This record gives sequence, structure tokens and C-alpha cells, in this order.
Amino acid sequence: MKILVVEDEDALAKGLKFNFELEGYEVALAGDGVTAVRMFEAAEPSFELIVLDLMLPGMSGYEVCKQIRQRDPRVSILVLSARTLSEDRAMAFDCGTDQYLSKPFALPELLSRIRNIEERRRMLFGGAEPASPETSRELRIGKDVVVNFDRFELHVKDAIQTLTTMETQLLRYFAQHEDRVLSRAQLMQDVWGDSSTFGSRTIDNFVMRLRRLIEPDPANPRHFLSVRGTGYRFVSNPAEPTEPPA
Ligand code: CA
Repeated sequence: MKILVVEDEDALAKGLKFNFELEGYEVALAGDGVTAVRMFEAAEPSFELIVLDLMLPGMSGYEVCKQIRQRDPRVSILVLSARTLSEDRAMAFDCGTDQYLSKPFALPELLSRIRNIEERRRMLFGGAEPASPETSRELRIGKDVVVNFDRFELHVKDAIQTLTTMETQLLRYFAQHEDRVLSRAQLMQDVWGDSSTFGSRTIDNFVMRLRRLIEPDPANPRHFLSVRGTGYRFVSNPAEPTEPPA
């Protein structure tokens, strides 16, 4: 897997490169955001994972994330940041981050997350058959929305939008567990492969994004339902609300 590490702290950047290369990854370093975006654009073949610091000289990590995400919905982006406020995490997810790990971090945890990302990418892009043969390649949500899992596309009426890797995986998981109550911990474990306790915010951010993309009225969701204190329940085709008697 080809990784771009975007980190202005030289010692940390070199340490990450060293450890990632030990794992067999191909690693390039960028010390600032402008360089990172330029390297990303020029790379052939593309980088598959960006490990991104948020506080960078010049262009912020958020902006780097947004720009790279605009260019490639499929690249995996893992933010590694000393910012620990939930607002920072939420903003990073809004910019298209897939995963967020706070500094200081434990190297084994970072490496295990990266192995996980690699494994999932292989499943998604490696050309292998989906794990469960009955998995449909398309999902219809309500009257107007179709998700194409092979092409990572969301069709809403006549508009087509490309989904990110994690959005696609989360949607697929919801589809495979239709109408069941799914806890945040279960989603975090099964979709992100992450059993850390930081997960709940991540899930909420992703569900908010899916609602914005898919729900006719995101404030009153009919497909991605909140289950108080637990998590979410997905319903692709809810019964039409009964009309009040005339
Ligand atoms: Ca920094």
C-alpha cells in the first residue's frame, strides 16, 4: 500500500516512515499542505492512504483533507492530531476524513488501524468477490435513491454523487443488517475495525452525512433512524406514513 504522510514535525514524520516501511508499505513524506496536495496530484499510481496532521504551516490539514477528498473519493484518510476537541473531530470528518487518532498515540494501535485499512481496501478494490455472495451490488432506498456499491455511486433522482470508501462500507453494512438496531460500538467494530472508545462521534458524523445525502428531510429521518442511547436502525423502504383521516 502506498502511503503519504503529511506531518511538519520532522522527527515524527521520519519515525512514521521508518515504521511504515518496516511493515512493507511504500511511504512518501510531505512537510506542508501545499506540497502534500501537489504530491498527491502527481503520484502515479495514486496514494491509497493519507496519514494527515491537522496543524500544518500554511494550508491547514482540514483544507488538505478537503482538497484531496475532492480529487479522490476512494483514498483512505487517517487524521493523526493533537487536537482532541469533539469539534475538531467533527470538522475533520466533514472534510472527508475516514479515521481520527489523537496524539499522543500508541504505535501498535496506529499500525493495526493501517493494516485494517489495507485489508478493507483489498476487499473493496482488489477485484475479489464480495465476502457474502448474497450481497447485492445495488441498494434502493425509498423511491428516489439507488446506491451502486461497485461504483461507489449514489444516484438521487438524476444526480450522481461519488461516495467515499467509508460511506460506502457503512451503507453496505446498514443494508446487510436492515431493520436491526445497531449499536455505535458494533458499527465501529464491524465497519471501521476499531474497538476504541472514541468511535461514537465518528458514527454520528457519518450518519449525519448519509442523512444529508439521502434523506428527503434530514431533520426528520425515515431511513437512518436514531435509537436512543444505543445507535441506529436502517430502513430502506419505510411504510408510507398513514394519512390522518380526512
Ligand atoms: Ca503539526
